Amino acid sequence: MDRALTRLERVLELERQQGYQNKAVVGGIRQFAVYWVTQATEEATDEADLALAEQVSEVLMEYGRLSGVEARAQAIGSLLAGIERRRARRPQAPPAARPASPPAKPSAPQTKPTPPPAKQTPARQPAPPARQEAPARPASPPPPPPAKAPAPVMEAAPPDMVEAAEEEIVELPDLALEPDLPAVEPDPRGLTQPLTALKGVGQKIAEKLHRLGPTTIAELLYLFPRRYDDYILMKPISKLQYGEQVTVIGTIWQTRTRRTRTNQAVIECIVNDGTGTVQATWFNQPWLAEQLPAGMQIVLSGKVEAFLGRLVFNSPDWEPLELEPLRTRRIVPIYPLTEGLTASKMREVMQRAVRDWSPRVPDPLPTAIRQRQRLYTLPQAISQTHFPDSQQTLHHARRRLVFDELFLLQLGMQGFRRHWQTQPGYPLTIDESALAAFQASLPFSLTGAQLRVIGEIAADLQRETPMNRLLQGDVGSGKTAVAAAAMLLAAKSGAQTALMAPTEILAEQHYQGLRRLLEPLEISVCLLTGSTPAAEKARIYEGLADGSIQVAIGTHALIQEGVRFRSLVLSVIDEQHRFGVDQRQALRDKGVTSASGEVITPHVLVMSATPIPRTLALSLYGDLDLSVLDEMPPGRQEIKTRWLQSSQRERAYSFVRRQVAAGRQAYIIYPLVEESDKIEAKAAVEEYARLQQEVFPELRVGLIHGRLKADEKEAAMRAFYQGETHILVATSVIEVGVDVPNSTVMVIEGANRFGLAQLHQFRGRVGRGQHQSYCILIADNETAVAEERLSALEQTNDGFVLAEKDLEIRGPGEFFGRRQSGIPEIHMASLLDMEMLTLARAEAEALFQEDPELEKPEHHWLAQRVKNFWAQASDVS
Ligand code: ADP
Ligand code: MG
Repeated sequence: MDRALTRLERVLELERQQGYQNKAVVGGIRQFAVYWVTQATEEATDEADLALAEQVSEVLMEYGRLSGVEARAQAIGSLLAGIERRRARRPQAPPAARPASPPAKPSAPQTKPTPPPAKQTPARQPAPPARQEAPARPASPPPPPPAKAPAPVMEAAPPDMVEAAEEEIVELPDLALEPDLPAVEPDPRGLTQPLTALKGVGQKIAEKLHRLGPTTIAELLYLFPRRYDDYILMKPISKLQYGEQVTVIGTIWQTRTRRTRTNQAVIECIVNDGTGTVQATWFNQPWLAEQLPAGMQIVLSGKVEAFLGRLVFNSPDWEPLELEPLRTRRIVPIYPLTEGLTASKMREVMQRAVRDWSPRVPDPLPTAIRQRQRLYTLPQAISQTHFPDSQQTLHHARRRLVFDELFLLQLGMQGFRRHWQTQPGYPLTIDESALAAFQASLPFSLTGAQLRVIGEIAADLQRETPMNRLLQGDVGSGKTAVAAAAMLLAAKSGAQTALMAPTEILAEQHYQGLRRLLEPLEISVCLLTGSTPAAEKARIYEGLADGSIQVAIGTHALIQEGVRFRSLVLSVIDEQHRFGVDQRQALRDKGVTSASGEVITPHVLVMSATPIPRTLALSLYGDLDLSVLDEMPPGRQEIKTRWLQSSQRERAYSFVRRQVAAGRQAYIIYPLVEESDKIEAKAAVEEYARLQQEVFPELRVGLIHGRLKADEKEAAMRAFYQGETHILVATSVIEVGVDVPNSTVMVIEGANRFGLAQLHQFRGRVGRGQHQSYCILIADNETAVAEERLSALEQTNDGFVLAEKDLEIRGPGEFFGRRQSGIPEIHMASLLDMEMLTLARAEAEALFQEDPELEKPEHHWLAQRVKNFWAQASDVS
C-alpha cells in the first residue's frame, strides 16, 4: 500500500500548505478519497492495511464538512501520524517520496501486490457483479457487443480515472474547475428544433417529454434534475441509522407478497449489500413482485424506519442498479418523470441531448463578466447541472445559472427604469401652503412615516423625470392619506390624477375616502367603473377632457380607449400585485397630456399592502423606487389572535354566533388550493351549504370564491358590506382590501396551509372599525412547523416581521404564490441570495453604462435572452 500512502501524503501536505481550504485536489478531498480508497484496498496486503484504508477514507469523506482550520489541521495531523506509524511498523517499505519531489513514476516498475481475493473487496463499495442485461428493455437499440468491454466493469475505478486524479494532483494544485467541452460553434437555430430531432426520441417519447414541459431541444436542456443521488454519500447497510435519509445499493435476496387483513398486497424485499441486510416494504403495488426478482441489483433511497426492532425502508424510491451511470458518474441526476417514461430512458435522452447540444448553446454572458465573477460558461453550467462530475462542479454550475437569472432580471428592471427615466416628465411646482391646509383639514395628525413618504413623493414630483415609486405599507398604515396628499399637489398645480383599483368595490371605497379628504379642499373627484351609467360616463369623459375633473378614481375603465385626460400627470395604482407589468405601463401611457404637442409620461405611484422583505423588493421591483410606511397610526387596536385545533371548531362557531348577536359580522376563510380553482370553489360551496343549513340556520351566510363572475363577486361583497349577510364564507379572493368596519371576526380554516404573510393579510380585513376584533386560526394538521408559524401570528401584528419570517420558512417561490404576475418565473435563482444579487446588480449597472441598448455585437445573445426572459412576464397578465 506504499504507493497509495505516498500519494495520500502528498495531497495532505499540499492541503496543509494551502491552509486547509479543501482545495488540494480538484473536486475536493472527498473526491480524492473515493479514488484513493479503491487504490489503497487493491494494494493492501493484510488486515491492518485494510483497516487503515478504511479509517483514512472515513476521515477524508468527512473532511469537507469540518468547519474551521483547527479541526481540519487536526484531522490531517492524525492521518499523517497514522502513515508514520505504519512505516514504523514496516521498516522494509521503500522510502516514500517527499511531497516536494517529483512523482516517482517512470523508474521503479511497480510490483503489483497480489490482488486480494474477491471476498475482501471493501464493503463500502461492493464490487458490481458481471454486467447483467437490464431486464426487458426492447425499446433501446442494443449496442454492439464489443462496446461492452467486460473487463473494466469488474474494477471499482477504471485505471484512467486513477491516472487522471494523479495528474490533477500534480499539475492542478489550485482550483481549476472548468470542465472540458468540445469546442463547437453555437447553433441557436438547431436548438429550437423539436425533440424528435434528437436521436432515440420518436413521436411517442417526445409526447411524454412534452408533458413535462419541453417542446424543443433548448427547453429540454433547461429541464433540470429534481435532485441527485450521490453515490459517494451512499451507506453500507450495516451502518444505517434510524431516521436518516440514505441511499443503499444491494442485491435482492428474496421478495415476498403478503396480504393484509383488508386484502391489500404488501411486497417485502430483503436486500443485502455484503455488510448486512435490510427489508424494504411497499404497499398496494402488487406488480412490484415481478419487477423485483431475487438476484436483482437495486438502488434504494429513503428514510430508515424501524419495524419490530429492525431497520426497514417503507416505500423507498427504487431503481434497478445501472452500472453505467454508477461507474462513470457518481452523482446521478434524478429527473421528473411521467407515465410511460422510465428513469433510465429519461437519462439516456438527457445524456444524448446534453452531450450533443449543450456545447452548442450560445453563451450570452460577456466574457469579461464571466471571468470577473469566475463563472462557468453556459454550456459548462448546463452539462454539469445535468451530469455533475462532483459536488463542487455542481455547485459552480448552479452558481452560474442563478447568476444568469438574477442578471437577466436586473437587466430587465434597469431597462424599464432607463426607459421611463428617458421619457419627458412633468415637473410640478409644489404648493407648500396647500399641503399645510390639507394637514390642517385632517381629523388626525400624520405619522412620521407618512410625512417622510409625502416628502419623498413631493421631491419626485418636482423632477423632470417621471416618478416611479412603490409605496409599501401594511393594511391600516394610512396609504390613502399619502396618496391624497400627492393628488392634492398635482391638482393645485392645475393638473389631473387617476387612481386605478383592481375591483369596483375597492374603487368605490377609495372614491368615498378620497372625496372626504379632497372635496373640502375644492378638488373635484369622480368615480369611473364598468357599471357607471352611460349618461354619467359621458359627463365624466367630458370633465376629464376639459380638465374640470381633477381626480379620477376607477377600475380598468380608466384605461379604456375613449378616456382622455386634459393633463394627466399622476397615476396611482392600488394593490400592485393584482396588475401586471404591462397594465402598469398602460396607465403610464395614458399620460397623453400634450402641453405643447409633446407626449408626457405621468408620475406613477404604486401602492401595495403586501409587505415585501427588502431583499425581495430589490430583486423584484428593481425598476421602482421604494417608500415604506413602517409606522402605524397611534391607537390602532390589536387584533386578538388565537389558534385552535380542529376539534375545537365548535368554540369558534359559538364565538361567531355571540359576535353576530352583538351586531357584528364575520368572515370564514377556506384554504386556497392553487392548482385548482374548481376544487377550491367546490369545497367552499359545500362548506357554505353546511354552515348555512346546519351550523348557522338562523343567520344569513354569503359566499364568495374565485370561480364567480366579477359581478357576482361584487354582489356578494356588497351584500356583506351593507350588512345583508352576517357571515361571509370566502376563499382567498377577499384578500384584496375591502373595508367592512363592522366585521370583527376572521376565522381561517386550514390555517396551517397558508403562508404567514397571507394570513396576516386576511387578518387585516377585521379591526377596521371601532370594535375589538378577533382572528381565529384553525389548523387541520398540528405539526411543529404549523405550530411555530401560527404562534408567530399570535405574537405580532407587524406585517414586515411576519413577511420576513414567512420568506425564511417558505422561500420566495411559495412566498409569492405561483400566480404572481408581472415577474418571470424564477426557476432556480434563490432570490434571497443577497451575495449573488448584489453581484448581478452591479454587473447589470456596469453593462448598462457601457452599452445601454445592448446594441454591440457581443451583446447580441444577451439582448435576445433578456427579451425572451421578460416575454414570459407579459404572457401572464
Ligand atoms: P391603508 O394603508 O390600509 O390603505 P388607510 O389609508 O385606509 O390604510 O387608513 C386606515 C385608517 O387609518 C383610515 O381610517 C384612516 O383615516 C386612518 N388614518 C390614516 N392615517 C392616520 C393617522 N396618521 N392617524 C390616525 N389615523 C389615521
Ligand atoms: Mg387602503
